[in-house]
Order: sequence, then structure tokens, then C-alpha cells
Amino acid sequence: MRGEIHLDCDVLIVGGGPSGLSAALVLGRAKRSVIVIDEGRPRNAVTRQSHGFLTRDNIKPMELRQIAREQLQTYPVNILDDTVVEIETRQDWFVIHSKKNKIHAKKVIFASGLKEHLPEIEGLQEAYGVSVFSCPYCDGWEHRDQPLAIIGNGENLFTYCKLISNWSEDLIVLSDGPTILSIEEQQQLKDRNITLIEEPIKELKSIDGRLTEITFEENDSIQRTAAFLLNTYATQFTTLPEKLGVELNEKGGYQTKRHGRTSTDGLYIIGDAAKRFTGLIGAASEGYETGIAVNLDLINEEWDEKS
Ligand SMILES: Cc1cc2nc3c(=O)[nH]c(=O)nc-3n(C[C@H](O)[C@H](O)[C@H](O)COP(=O)(O)OP(=O)(O)OC[C@H]3O[C@@H](n4cnc5c(N)ncnc54)[C@H](O)[C@@H]3O)c2cc1C
Repeated sequence: MRGEIHLDCDVLIVGGGPSGLSAALVLGRAKRSVIVIDEGRPRNAVTRQSHGFLTRDNIKPMELRQIAREQLQTYPVNILDDTVVEIETRQDWFVIHSKKNKIHAKKVIFASGLKEHLPEIEGLQEAYGVSVFSCPYCDGWEHRDQPLAIIGNGENLFTYCKLISNWSEDLIVLSDGPTILSIEEQQQLKDRNITLIEEPIKELKSIDGRLTEITFEENDSIQRTAAFLLNTYATQFTTLPEKLGVELNEKGGYQTKRHGRTSTDGLYIIGDAAKRFTGLIGAASEGYETGIAVNLDLINEEWDEKS
């Protein structure tokens, strides 16, 4: 069967973020022909600077990708700005349909990430990624010891308050309605001079994305320079792996085994699509690990074919 069809590449990677590009690097260096298809809509697109990636602290998300793309030019890796729309499985390869191409590949890696969803608060979209964030490890340092707000209400609110208080003691918690915090938890906040406001939020006011003021339904307001959001959530960027038989786990990540392998032979899933939040360096690490696993699987198959 294999001889009857032209295989365009050894490995097709869906998604050109840190996980996908890292897998491409290790596979390219293992002499594998790789095609990366990327639609260019990463989860962190709104952010101006990324943090926490060793040697790349403060880098713009697109600059990180650009450097990776340039370095990949040395290897048999082809990166296409395109969207994968359908994948068919054959006995031991895949047929990938993108908007512009049809590609045959022996293995497919999904590095397709997640889509972020924000609560509906007027003015939030403008400030998100500039002065309103969800991850303090990504953006807490830049707003340390500043007047901060925590916006949200949910079962993890108390833990989130403890977490954010690590970066600033000038903290106001906005539950945007009656809080779910217990009386004892509210008392613990009070003991630490953390104010709780339950009044519904009207608007976040910002200048060029920089938060200045938060107003409430009853017309009063508070001045804050940054805020952390408890209630963002993210959904899979693509449902193609589900169509290929991969199930979602209880957290909404694709179910994977060691090294990104899945229940579907030849299909691997890495980065946020599997782990929900890997961070840039975690995503790159998963790409490296899975790249090695994919190459080993190919080596074993090719070895057996020759016997
Ligand atoms: C606002 C914000 C700020 C963040 N800041 C930081 C930070 O400072 N430091 C940090 O370590 N982490 C940060 N993160 C987390 C980080 O962005 C993610 O953990 C990381 O990007 C995951 O990498 P990935 O390769 O799995 O997915 P992504 O980077 O999201 O890349 C996935 C890519 O796949 C593409 N894609 C999906 N489906 C298809 C398809 N069908 N066809 C073609 N292409 C497709 C998407 O368009 C996208 O380009 C932040 C996240 C957010 C939301």
C-alpha cells in the first residue's frame, strides 16, 4: 500500500506555536521531512510581551515564533500559513486537507492550542493582555506592589486571592455580585486589609489598554492600575482530534498518553491542547519530547519494514 501513494512528508504538524515549532525543530534535525501548518492565531495573541521563557524573557509572542521560523530554515521543515480543515485516516498514513493544500503524512502532531474566552464586562477586551491578565506568573512581576483588583467569583476565588496577594498587598476583590466566599474566608481577607466589593461591575476604563478605573452599577468607582481575572476559560481551537477518535478529559484537554501519544495510532497531541496551560517553555518542552517519540516510532516502523 505504502508504495502506491506519494507521501508529502513524514510528519504534519497542526499549529506553529512554541509546541509545534519545537517538535518541528527536533524532527527536522532528525532528517525528517516536516510540514507545519499554522493559522497564526495563538492563545496569547493579545499580549504585548511574554515572560518566563529562559533567555527570551520580555519577548513579543510573534518575535518568538519568527526567530523559530528563521532557525528552522536550516532543516527539511516547510511552514505554511494555512488552516487544516479535515484529516482522513488511512491504514498507516493520514490525508490532510487544508484550505490551500492536500498533504499525505505518516504521522500527525496536533499543537493547536486553545481559544481564550473572557467574561462579558464592558471595557475588558481593550485592557486584556495589557493591564488585565489571568496568569500572575506570566504578568505579575510587571505589576508588583501596585493597586490591583481581582475580578471573579467561583470556587477557586479564595485560593486565587492568596495567590495574587503574593504580588501586591494593595488588593481589592471584585466578585461582581454576591460572593461565594464563606464568612470565615471574608474575615481572613479583612484581617489582611483586602477589601471585598460585591457590587456589580459596570465598566473597566483604560487608556491604550492601561487600566485606570473600575466603575460600578451604583455610580461609585475605584482606581486600579491592573487586574487579574479568575473566570477566564478556554476551549479547544480545533475539534479535529475528536473527529479522529481522541476524547477530551474532564478538564477539557485532549486525552493523551506518554509523549503525547493518543488512542489513535500515529496521532500525537501536545501543548495547551493536551495540558490546558503549559506556558511557552512547557509547550516547547512537550514539542521536544514528542518530536523524539515520533522519530523513534518512525525508526522502529522503518526498521521492521526492512526485515
Ligand atoms: C493573555 C495570555 C498571556 C500569556 N502570557 C504568557 C507568558 O507571558 N509566558 C508564558 O509562558 N505563557 C503565557 N501564556 C500561555 C501561552 O500562550 C500558552 O501556554 C502557549 O502559547 C501554548 O503553546 P501551544 O504551542 O500549545 O499553542 P499556541 O501558542 O496557542 O499555538 C497554537 C497555534 O495553532 C494554530 N492552529 C490551531 N488550529 C489550527 C488549524 N486547524 N490549522 C492551522 N493552525 C491551527 C493556532 O492558530 C495557533 O497559532 C499566555 C496566555 C495568554 C492567554
